[in-house]
Amino acid sequence: MKYKWLIFDVDDTLLDYQRVSKECLELLFQEISCPYDPRYFATFKEIDDRLWSRVQTGERTSADVIVQRFAELGQVVNVHLPPHRCSEVYGRLLSTVVYPVSNAHALLSHLSANFYLVAATNGTAAVQKAKLETSKMGHYFHRVFISSEVGHQKPAREFFDAVHCALDRPARNAMLMIGDSLTSDIKGALNYGMDACWFNPGRTRDSSSITPTYEISELPELIPIVENAQPGQALNCFANGES
Ligand SMILES: [Mg+2]
Repeated sequence: MKYKWLIFDVDDTLLDYQRVSKECLELLFQEISCPYDPRYFATFKEIDDRLWSRVQTGERTSADVIVQRFAELGQVVNVHLPPHRCSEVYGRLLSTVVYPVSNAHALLSHLSANFYLVAATNGTAAVQKAKLETSKMGHYFHRVFISSEVGHQKPAREFFDAVHCALDRPARNAMLMIGDSLTSDIKGALNYGMDACWFNPGRTRDSSSITPTYEISELPELIPIVENAQPGQALNCFANGES
C-alpha cells in the first residue's frame, strides 16, 4: 500500500464541530444567565471563522481568538458578554459535548489495523485532548498534534514539519492528510509534499486554486482509496472520477 501514515484533522472531519458549537453557545448563554436568541449563532460563526482564518495567516494566535470572539459577539448583538469568562465556560462545554461525524468510529477502527493513524488539529490542547477522550477516539491515534502545543497552525509549513519530524521523517509520499478545510488541511499538506484527501460532505464546489489529491463526501469512501493506492500512483486522480 502506498500510504502508511494517515493524518486526520479532527473538527468537522471526525467530530461535528458545527453542531457542537451551536449547542454550546446556547448552553453558554444559559450558564451566564443571558437571554439567548438562536440568531446569535450565525453572527458568532461569522466572527469565529473570520478570526480563525487570521490565525491561519499568522495574524492572530488561537489564545487571542478564543477570547476575542466573545468580545466581538457582545458588541455586535449588544449584550454584555465577559469575554474571558465566556471563553473559559465555552471551552469547558466544548470538551464535554461531542458528536462524531457519521461512520467516524467505524472508519478509525478499521484503518487502525493496517495504518498508523495521527491526529493533527488546530486549537487549544486542553479542549482538543478532552474532545478526543470524551469521544473515545483518542486511543486510535499513534500521535496527536495540536497547534497550541506545536506552536504553529495548519497550513504553516512549520506545523507539518513538526509532525514529520516527530514521526521520524517517514517518506512524505507515504503520508496522507485527511481534512475538511482546503485552506488549512489540504493546502498545508500539498505544500509540504504530502497527498491530501478533502472531506467535503456538503459537496461544495470550489473555485480556489487548491486541488486535493482526492475528494470524498462520506468517510467510508476513504477506505478503498488508502487500501488500493499503490506506490508511484499518479497524483490528482479524484476519488469520484473527476479530473
Ligand atoms: Mg476541520
